[in-house]
Amino acid sequence: MKYLIIAALVSIVLVIVYSRVRPYLKLFRKVVESLNVATEGTATPATPERTPSKNKLVRCDSCGTWIPAERALHLSSGLASYCSSECLTKNPQTKERKLAG
Ligand SMILES: [Zn+2]
Repeated sequence: MKYLIIAALVSIVLVIVYSRVRPYLKLFRKVVESLNVATEGTATPATPERTPSKNKLVRCDSCGTWIPAERALHLSSGLASYCSSECLTKNPQTKERKLAG
């Protein structure tokens, strides 16, 4: 009789442990399956990225014309860009606040 109770207790404990572990086993199986799928289908098409630096447009600081960055003229400071040397010379390099009030 004593062994029967122990066997029942052990079986109950086993059932409880199994019921608690089962989700993890399922998760483990899913992870393994996903890993297998990932190793099989790694053929992702490589999308060629065009460098946007060549097509970049900058605005002339003097006349406001949009020009490609390659043709833009920059000051030595590099903060402003101009479409032509005329705009470069026309635009005052140092902005002085002459307007009082
Ligand atoms: Zn300009």
